Amino acid sequence: MGTWRIGEAAEKTDSEIETIRYGLDHDINLIDTAEMYGNGASELLIGEATKCYDRSKFQLVSKFYPYHATPDLIKKSLQDSLRRLQTDYLDMYLLHWRGDTPLEETIAGLEAVKKAGYIKDWGVSNFDIDDLKELASLPNGDNCKVNQNLYNIESRGVEYNVLPWQKEHSISFMGYSPFGSDKNAYLHPKEIVAELAEQKQITVFQLLLAWAIRNNNLLSIPKTSSVEHLKSNLKAVDVEFTSDELNLLDEYYPAPTHAVPLDTI
Ligand code: NDP
Repeated sequence: MGTWRIGEAAEKTDSEIETIRYGLDHDINLIDTAEMYGNGASELLIGEATKCYDRSKFQLVSKFYPYHATPDLIKKSLQDSLRRLQTDYLDMYLLHWRGDTPLEETIAGLEAVKKAGYIKDWGVSNFDIDDLKELASLPNGDNCKVNQNLYNIESRGVEYNVLPWQKEHSISFMGYSPFGSDKNAYLHPKEIVAELAEQKQITVFQLLLAWAIRNNNLLSIPKTSSVEHLKSNLKAVDVEFTSDELNLLDEYYPAPTHAVPLDTI
């Protein structure tokens, strides 16, 4: 479950909390957030929503700014995130995107907070293939467990070399913005998507999400603050595609045939 843009408007608080709790009651087992989201507002709301739940039943992922990527600042950012989230550990802590701090320093900071028990594992976000290779070449760089990148039917760049490389190196992939993010940036799928959704008696949103997780080895973190939308999104897990359907979608949204700079939001 993604959580960008939650916790930012008082009139939405109730439905945002209700949606997170509905998710935890219905098989959602991972919540993604970041210190950046609403300057901590997303983490605060998640803390409020999850405080009455068994912490071992769901995973919390948060991210720190690239300009907090030194050992001292990682520790400080993490402590602030833990306080807002009302928990004493994160399952996964990610460098939100690459900045100027040498990766060696960031790895050292992450390994230190892992050793202290504040995080179970760490990873990165918005890393392209060269960044991943550089990371893996550094001391303890191979302890990176996840890379989180944009992934939806219109942004398939990671399929060319990032996904195969991550698979080979046992680094999980988390795809963000399966629907193309907020109302200003939503995907505007081609007619074929609506036609196929109608044939399959599902919604366009369900089709987009089912497509993003179609290979069973990818995680997608759609955001919603509506229980009705969440109920609908959860059903996408059961949507299956025939190879003809996938081939048809490939014709309109081709897989990359060469390396392309990765899209980000
Ligand atoms: P999404 O692609 O998940 O789209 C979210 C939007 O879709 C919201 O406006 C939501 O509205 C709407 N929506 C969700 N489900 C439905 C539905 N069934 N019917 C109609 N509308 C629906 O965008 P995000 O950018 O939020 O990406 C998901 C998550 O990925 C983020 O929340 C964040 O956790 C992470 N992320 C990470 C980034 C990174 O750099 N690492 C960058 C961007 C995102 P409503 O709430 O009303 O349902």
